[in-house]
Amino acid sequence: MRVVPTVIVPACLLALTALAARESGRLPEEAAAFLRLYPWLVATAGVLLGLWFRRGRVVLALVALSLAGLTLARFAPGTAGIEVGRYARNAVALLLPLDLAWLALARERGTLTASGLARLGVLAVQPAAAAFLWISYHPGAVAWLESRFLPGRASPEGAVAHPALVAYAAALVTVGLAWAVRRTTLDASFTWALIASFLGLVVAGAATPYLATAGLILVVALLETTLSMAFRDGLTSLPSRRAFDETVAQLSGRFAIAMVDIDHFKAVNDQYGHDVGDQVLRMVAARLAAVRGGARSFRVGGEEFAILFPKRRAKEVKAELESLRAAVAASGFALRAPDRPTRKPKRTAPRRHPGTTISVTVSIGVAERGTRLTSPEEVVKAADDALYRAKRAGRDRVVG
Ligand code: GH3
Ligand code: MG
Ligand code: MG
Repeated sequence: MRVVPTVIVPACLLALTALAARESGRLPEEAAAFLRLYPWLVATAGVLLGLWFRRGRVVLALVALSLAGLTLARFAPGTAGIEVGRYARNAVALLLPLDLAWLALARERGTLTASGLARLGVLAVQPAAAAFLWISYHPGAVAWLESRFLPGRASPEGAVAHPALVAYAAALVTVGLAWAVRRTTLDASFTWALIASFLGLVVAGAATPYLATAGLILVVALLETTLSMAFRDGLTSLPSRRAFDETVAQLSGRFAIAMVDIDHFKAVNDQYGHDVGDQVLRMVAARLAAVRGGARSFRVGGEEFAILFPKRRAKEVKAELESLRAAVAASGFALRAPDRPTRKPKRTAPRRHPGTTISVTVSIGVAERGTRLTSPEEVVKAADDALYRAKRAGRDRVVG
């Protein structure tokens, strides 16, 4: 798991918010002025970035957080009729976690698309519905919103009512599970945003900064996700050619590089179709990602991969490469149904009966930095040449 974007950054942002909330009375004027601007900056910059990168879920989450923030600020204890204020806060506390969980789990459908706008409508209807319930004074709904049915000590006045507590618990469990299963930075950020918004409800007088931080956590995740996409290959999730080129250019000291190429891969595509070819690529990539010894694997081309071994010599990594080669050769790729069985494959390669296993092998060339090869480019070239020799010698082997 990538701990920095998914844990450390959000935790630091929350800690800073907690500090600012605690010291709010003692902050210098500049800091206080910044804190007043903070929610607006996050909302504006976040919505613009979300529109730009077509992340409708983040845009809508920012809309929900902003609506919640405005409502809580408008109805802060002591600023409005006590009862209407309590009602509004209870409604926000119930709806916000449900909205965040919904957006975290929903599929991305863009922002200015039909379904993106329909979702915006769903968000807009909520305050209207809450206001309608209040104006038409629906005593049942009002009382239910602030009901306390869970066991435990009597909660203090202003504490989060139990329907909202249940909504938060359910949302946290669901979104946390989605994070555990899908392991994306955005899922992590929705989990943290839920925690931040909950703190905004329970820490007296700090709703605005905590809700703004919830938004900031989402925006940072959006940027991280978008940036890392440029350096990661979508099919195999391995770092991409661009990442390889930049890493190689920054290498110093000793290192070894292995170039890996799938044997007769064109034949796999031709015989079994492109979908099966893609599955084979993922299988080989997973084996590469599991190589030990400080190795870093990349997908540098169609069916070509590179493995970088910092601080290692070519002859030291031969054993790891040999077991990689053997593991791929032994994996006997079993055919399963294509990824999207509902769509007719364009190239109508005859679907071999599931149950068939395809044998896949790789050829590997390895080279190291030494007295003869000094620049990283030369090492890559030498590893490529070794790969070519491995192919010529009959494939399914390591040469270097
Ligand atoms: P060799 O053993 O000499 O490496 O033979 P080969 O068939 O693997 O080599 P060649 O370079 O002729 O063919 C590579 C094939 O890889 C051609 C292309 O159709 C396929 N390919 C490249 N990228 C992808 C991809 O993303 N998905 C799939 N399914 N196939 C790909
Ligand atoms: Mg090949
Ligand atoms: Mg090739």
